[in-house]
Formats: sequence, structure tokens, C-alpha cells
Amino acid sequence: MAYYSIADKCSLLEKINSTIELTSLLDLLGEEIQKTGQLDGYLINLADASESSLVSWKVHFTAEYQHLEDTYAGYKLELAPNAPNLSVQAYQLRQTVQADVTNATGEVKRLLGLWKLEDIAAVPLIPEEDRHAQKLPGTIVLLKQYGKITSEILDILNELIGLFYAPLCNALDYAVLKDYQSRFEAAATEQSRFLQFIVEMNNMTSPERIYEMFSGELFHKLAFDMVGFFLIENEVLVSKKISIVNPRYETRRAKWEQYIQAHPYQQNTTDGGISHAFMRNTHLLFPDVQKIKHLPMSPNDQATLKILGNIRTLLMVPIRFQNKPIGVLVFFSFTDTLAISDSDLSLLNNLSAFLGTAIINGRNYQLSLEQHREIERLNMILQDKVKELAEQAATDKLTGLFNFRTFEHELNRRINEFERQTDKTGLSIAIIDIDHFKKFNDTYGHNAGNVVLTGVAKEINKLVRKMDLACRYGGEEFVVILSKCDPEGIRIFAERMRTAIEATSFDTDAGKLSVTVSIGCTSHQPDDTYESLFTRADQALYRAKENGRNRVELN
Ligand code: GH3
Ligand code: MG
Ligand code: MG
Repeated sequence: MAYYSIADKCSLLEKINSTIELTSLLDLLGEEIQKTGQLDGYLINLADASESSLVSWKVHFTAEYQHLEDTYAGYKLELAPNAPNLSVQAYQLRQTVQADVTNATGEVKRLLGLWKLEDIAAVPLIPEEDRHAQKLPGTIVLLKQYGKITSEILDILNELIGLFYAPLCNALDYAVLKDYQSRFEAAATEQSRFLQFIVEMNNMTSPERIYEMFSGELFHKLAFDMVGFFLIENEVLVSKKISIVNPRYETRRAKWEQYIQAHPYQQNTTDGGISHAFMRNTHLLFPDVQKIKHLPMSPNDQATLKILGNIRTLLMVPIRFQNKPIGVLVFFSFTDTLAISDSDLSLLNNLSAFLGTAIINGRNYQLSLEQHREIERLNMILQDKVKELAEQAATDKLTGLFNFRTFEHELNRRINEFERQTDKTGLSIAIIDIDHFKKFNDTYGHNAGNVVLTGVAKEINKLVRKMDLACRYGGEEFVVILSKCDPEGIRIFAERMRTAIEATSFDTDAGKLSVTVSIGCTSHQPDDTYESLFTRADQALYRAKENGRNRVELN
């Protein structure tokens, strides 16, 4: 007679079918086993994916031992042939294995005594009528504190297993899939993190940051304790950076760095592993240095071993740029050896090529930055030079006033500007000519003449406003252009200039001397051109000379 009524079966199946998670399903199975009231405890064991062991997923002990349930959850039983364990036997034989309680010996006797049980049995987790089915998920161990595990109990259990078998197989498959999924997701996250690393490395220009970032990534991927970056510079392999995974290695790191900087590796395969890896453009792996340290080696390698002490796994990988070595990466593990797989090596080879590109890119960037700075510096010098030349071209060397060229250009420009003005506020010029200067030169010498020329220029400069323009027109002639200056203004200006120069005595090598000037001036008149304006001023100057010199004439 069936233990479950049709109605009970239906409601249980409903519950089972709405449960897809393995643990929930096992909870449900456990509950049902307990509900039968026929057993004092049970263990549900499931085979692992490789079917090499049975793992206790659900444990229910008799009241006295319930505190040990957590300890036994996850307990592993190896599925070894001929194991004395009932559960293992039930799994391997695909049939119920019950202890022979009356004649119990060995393992069974020990178990019964240990757990204070009167009976124990292990049932394969597969319906009796279906034992040929492919999949066997595991076993259920039945514990009976008082009395025997009867065939009635086994029938009930078989009925229960019949209900749970298929859903349990599905839930197991589902759990495997979920595991794959989470492993895949972890791999995808790692992949995208790595991609991010590559992008960041690509954008990096400072070598220091490149080494830092790169060693971080290496320590993340492989369990090495120290990594050194060597680059070829001036024909030798120079240590650029030595990174450690843990600060406790700092003393030996610093010591080795100091040594290796004083003894760079030469481009000679016999100078050591680093030179060899570089020259041969190939990686070099020593799975355990402790086993080969008695062999002959180069002085540099001997010193390295002595300084770094217990090196275990040692690996050297060339840093490549366009397949040619530009340096070497050297990895150390201290204390433990590391298993380096082929895929690790291929990853490192790829990464080192990538590192080579990043280093060269960074170097080019630095170089172009320096070139850029140099160009800027030269440009500034050039600009100063251009400015100086422009000033030289615009000014007169002796007096520092603007020269004739500038005067010509500036007067033309100001005439044009003046003509466009609506409120014409006057534009005037004054030509200043030193009187009898030929005679002065003849009397006191050319040097004294030059002192006077410079002195007169200074006096002119003192009297002009910022907007005016004073020029040396030729030998001993000066011109001043005065914007916003009408005929009345120019007369006052010229008169002031004349008296100022007359009153000044110049300190020459022939003693204190003074000169007078004649000044011809004029203001802009309608339809004036450069020539007409200048000619009028020149005529005024001529008149000033005619009328006795040391005077101002306005035209
Ligand atoms: P006037 O009163 O009519 O202007 O007589 P002047 O002698 O000043 O006029 P002239 O044009 O005959 O002579 C100008 C002289 O200016 C000739 C030259 O000796 C002198 N001179 C021109 N340029 C320079 C110069 O750069 N340095 C010196 N020391 N003298 C100069
Ligand atoms: Mg003259
Ligand atoms: Mg003169």
C-alpha cells in the first residue's frame, strides 16, 4: 500500500515542481523524510560533478548530536573502490545497503557505537524500479536510534525518492549551469577590467606610471613577489624600476636595486640570465632556483642570489617593441615555487610586447614634449630678435629718435587718419634745424657735434607728448609730428622748443657749448598731401633761416 495518498502526492508534486533551487529542493526532501516519523536522522549526500566523492548537503542527526550537524554539512566521502562506507557502497552498487546490526563488525560497529544507533542504511537516490537510469545524484543515509529500518520504511523512502528523482536531477543540472554562469561572469568582469588596463596603459605617457600600473597588473595576475624592469640604454641593460608585492621585501629590493644600478647587465649572454633573455629574445624560466644554485653562474647572478636570498621561481621575459627586444622583465617568487603554465607564459609574452609599445610611446611623447618646449624657447628668442630688429629699423642709432623711414610712414598714416576724422582737431609738423652746424663741427669737432645732436634730441623728446612722434630727419634736422595740434598749438610748441634748446648747454669734450635752432612749422590744410604739408613746413624753415635764424616761422 502506498504511503502517500493521491491528494498528498499531488500537493507535494506541486511544491516540488515550483522549486528549482537545489538547496530548497533538498530542504523539501528533508522535511518529507522527517514527516514520515519513521527515522531519527538522515544525511543526503550528492556526488560532485566529477563523481569522485559524495558530499553531505543536508544533515539531520538525533537530538543528542544535533550540534554536530554544521560540522558534517559539506563532509566529503571519497568514492574509492571497496570503501567500507555504507553510503559509498550504496552509490557504487546502486542499491540499498543496510548494516547487519547483529553481526556488526569494523566500520559499521564503530559507527553504530559512535552515533548510539540501533540501525543504519544507505539508499541510492534513484527509484528502485529505475535503477538502470543513467544519472545517480547521490545517496540518503537513514539513521534509526531505536529499532530497525524496516522494509516498510524503505518503501516509503523509495516512494519519496520516486517523486524527487527527476526534479533533483534537473536542479543539479541547473546548479551546474548557474556555476558556469557565475564563472563566466567573473571571467567577463576580469576581461573588461583587463581591457580597461590596456586602455589606460595606452594613454599613459610617464614611464614611472607605466611601470607602476604594469607591476600592479602582473601581481594581480601571477603570484610573483617582485618584478624588475630593465631597459637597454647606452648599450647596457639598466634597471628602471623594481616593484614588490609586499612591503616586507623592501630591504632586499633596495639592496638589489643599488647593486644592479652599479652593475648593469652587459650585452653578452654570459653576463647572466637577464642578458641571455635579451640577446636571445626569448623567455627564460627557472622553476626553482634553490635546486640550481650550486651550478656555475655569472658574478652578477651570483651577487643577485646572495642579495635576494631564497629566490624560488625566476622568470625573465624580453620586453619587445615590434618584435625586437628593448629590455627585460624579470620576475621573482620568494619562499614558494610557482607553477607557470604555458598560458601564463603566452600572456606574459603578450603583455611584455604591449609594455614595449607603451614605453616607446611614452618615450616619444616625452621627446616630442621636450622638442615642443625647445621650439617654444627658440621662438621666444626669435620674437625678441624680431622686435629688436624692428626697433633698429625704425630708429636712429645716434639719437634714439625714430628715423626718416618711420617719419615718412607715420606722417602718411596720420594724414589719412586725420582726413577720416569728422571733428578735425588739427595735425601739425615742425622741422627743427640746428643753425650753422657745419661751422660748429668745423670749430669744435665731430664728437662735440654728436654730443649736441644727442642733446638736442633729448630736449625734443622732453617736450613732445606721448601721441606725438619725434624723428631725426637727416644730419642736423629733426621733425616732430603733432596730432590734435592746431596752428596756435604748433607755434607755442615750436617757440618753447627753440627757447629750451637755446637755454641748454651741452657738455662736450670741447667744453660746455650751446646751439640755436630754426624751426619751420605748419598745420594740415584741406587737400594736403604728404608733400604739400612737408614743403610748406620746409619753406617756413627756409624763411626762419633767411630772417636771421634762432626763430620760428609758421606757414
Ligand atoms: P644752417 O644754419 O644754414 O643750417 O647752416 P648749417 O651749417 O647748419 O647747414 P648745412 O646744411 O650747410 O650743414 C649741416 C652740417 O651738419 C653738415 C655736417 O657737418 C653736420 N652734420 C650732419 N650730420 C652730422 C652728424 O651726424 N654728426 C655731426 N657731428 N655733424 C653732422
Ligand atoms: Mg640742415
Ligand atoms: Mg643747419
